Amino acid sequence: MDADIEGVPQEVSTGSLPAGDRVQRSVDEAHARYRDRDEGEVIDSIPELAEADPALFGLAVAPTGGDVHAAGDADVQFTIQSISKAFVYALVCEAHGHDEVLERVGVDNTGYPFDSVVTLELNDGHPKNPMVNAGALATTALVPGDGAAERWEHVRTGLSAFAGRRLEMDDAVHRSESAVNQRTRAIAQLLESYGRITTDPLDVVDVYTRQCALLVSARDLAVMGATLANGGVNPLTGERTVSPHVCRDVLSVLAVTGMYEKSGDWLFGIGMPAKSGISGGIVAVAPGKGALGAYSPQLDSAGNSVRGQLAAAYLSRTLGLNVFASSAAGGPRG
Ligand code: GLN
Repeated sequence: MDADIEGVPQEVSTGSLPAGDRVQRSVDEAHARYRDRDEGEVIDSIPELAEADPALFGLAVAPTGGDVHAAGDADVQFTIQSISKAFVYALVCEAHGHDEVLERVGVDNTGYPFDSVVTLELNDGHPKNPMVNAGALATTALVPGDGAAERWEHVRTGLSAFAGRRLEMDDAVHRSESAVNQRTRAIAQLLESYGRITTDPLDVVDVYTRQCALLVSARDLAVMGATLANGGVNPLTGERTVSPHVCRDVLSVLAVTGMYEKSGDWLFGIGMPAKSGISGGIVAVAPGKGALGAYSPQLDSAGNSVRGQLAAAYLSRTLGLNVFASSAAGGPRG
């Protein structure tokens, strides 16, 4: 489909968040409502992550203009894991442009778990989207830089700009995942066999494993998401990370793919572009308004934080974050 709209100005479709005290109240309420829920399992496929305290629960909402509202363990750090895929995709789209990246990595949901090899084989080695491991590896392979060390620095600096502070890597998690990531290595080598990765696939895996081991808090995730909600400008530092059209592209990909094979369920229930990671983080974005960050390590069967999803549903409802919600002009809300 070619609508031939390159160069046609992009008008925006957004509103604003309620006042700060209302936002804080909702964040506190969401935390109180769900902190005692005890469903889900802490991930055990990466030994170091299995040590996480299942009781941890942090929430934060970052508006595009103003202070962050937080509750619970919002400043506890954990590794970003798959959420890094969203921000690395943004950096790569910024560097290469929408069309070139689209040629390498698609934007449709696979319907399969994030580490599946099946969809790659069924699609002639073309990764379906950048939020599953195959597409994330093909995306990380496109990070600008001469060699793995430069690429890693580009990723780390880029993600730090989204967070508004220098992010550190958790060495123990990087080591732990590196010892058990045979499947990720296999996917990278399969991509190489299809000509989709043209640099050393194991270097790509190492940069990818490092990006997954960056330490963030729920507060950081909220700020990173709010930067995507704010046309690429970090609301706390004022620094531009990526262009507005890159934010739009990333958010549309997140809406379709960000919550793995449960992305449709999530969008139906919560109505926000979002990304989750297996250590228990979720970032969910309301374009123009802000973003929420959540952390709680107990996961559902797709790998999404249970408490994080419950809190996101409540916050989406009470703060008007669902991008599909409307009411008749002048009429009652329903
Ligand atoms: N580092 C993890 C992996 O590649 C990230 C997975 C995730 O968060 N879904 O397996």
